[in-house]
Amino acid sequence: MNVLVTGGAGFIGANLCREFASRPSVGKVIALDDLSTGSAANLAGVDAELVEGSILDPDLLDSLVTGVDAVVHLAARPSVPRSLADPVATHHVNATGTVNVLEACRRAHLPVVAASSSSVYGAIPALPKHEDLPTRPLSPYAASKLATEAYVLSYGASFDLPVLAFRFFNVYGPLQSAGHVYAAVIPAFIDAMLLGAPVRIHGDGLQTRDFTYVGTVVKVLADAVLRKVTCPGPVNLAFGTRVPVIDLARQLADIVGSPADIRHEGARAGDVRHSQAADGLVRGLFPDVIQVPLARGLAETVRWF
Ligand code: NAD
Repeated sequence: MNVLVTGGAGFIGANLCREFASRPSVGKVIALDDLSTGSAANLAGVDAELVEGSILDPDLLDSLVTGVDAVVHLAARPSVPRSLADPVATHHVNATGTVNVLEACRRAHLPVVAASSSSVYGAIPALPKHEDLPTRPLSPYAASKLATEAYVLSYGASFDLPVLAFRFFNVYGPLQSAGHVYAAVIPAFIDAMLLGAPVRIHGDGLQTRDFTYVGTVVKVLADAVLRKVTCPGPVNLAFGTRVPVIDLARQLADIVGSPADIRHEGARAGDVRHSQAADGLVRGLFPDVIQVPLARGLAETVRWF
């Protein structure tokens, strides 16, 4: 089986390409990436072909899907603050780009596994977040990911395309970049601790997130492709590990071995207060999945830095 991973030079994408390349039943792995937030270095040592280009280029997509048997669609502008700074660019890549990928897959009749986000639940206060809850996006990013999953699922219903739309929660692990204003919380904290810089927490730190190690995520993604798993509705890809951000900072400080100089800043627009996945659906579809526990995943991540 040959696979195309859009966003394949990004954090989750490059980890997934490595996972596919390690599977005996996978032949060619193609990573399509415009290198806007990803980098070729993420694929160093991985048996994957990097094609530098955009999902906003339908002709390129058509040429790439001819040689593959499945597509994992991860390419996106993946940040809430970036979407607040430029909502239209986020819409182009995350919504229009997704339609372009789906059109190429429709023409070639290829299965698609795609990344949505827990941010679609937004202002809905219920916990845990069950897939049947209503959605209420709080940011243009969240709205664009709701469009991503809606388009993916609608192509399944309209064109009988085998589709699976995962709602990722907070994914973390090796290759997640730090040192820039849009860095995710775990690499940002580790980076600050290793530099002896202040650890900046937005708000009181009691907001919670459901963290999933990237090694667990890519095993589920690869399994979904290889076992041809489909679902007519969205599927949470997280396992209900809810942690307050301030506890996360303390746990990381223990692993890094330096006291954290925690500074509280104003809460960020577009951020949700609490996040925790209901994991019944993902566990039903992937009964063999073994979740890497948070303590081990954090230790692996610090070791990678
Ligand atoms: P990432 O920024 O590392 O990966 C996204 C990749 O897409 C990058 O390599 C980027 O260069 C590429 N890209 C952007 N625009 C492109 C375009 N027009 N054409 C081709 N490639 C393009 O981020 P990530 O964390 O690996 O995110 C992967 C996916 O998972 C995204 O769809 C994101 O929305 C989703 N997601 C991630 C998380 C998380 O916690 N990391 C949570 C929820 C959803």
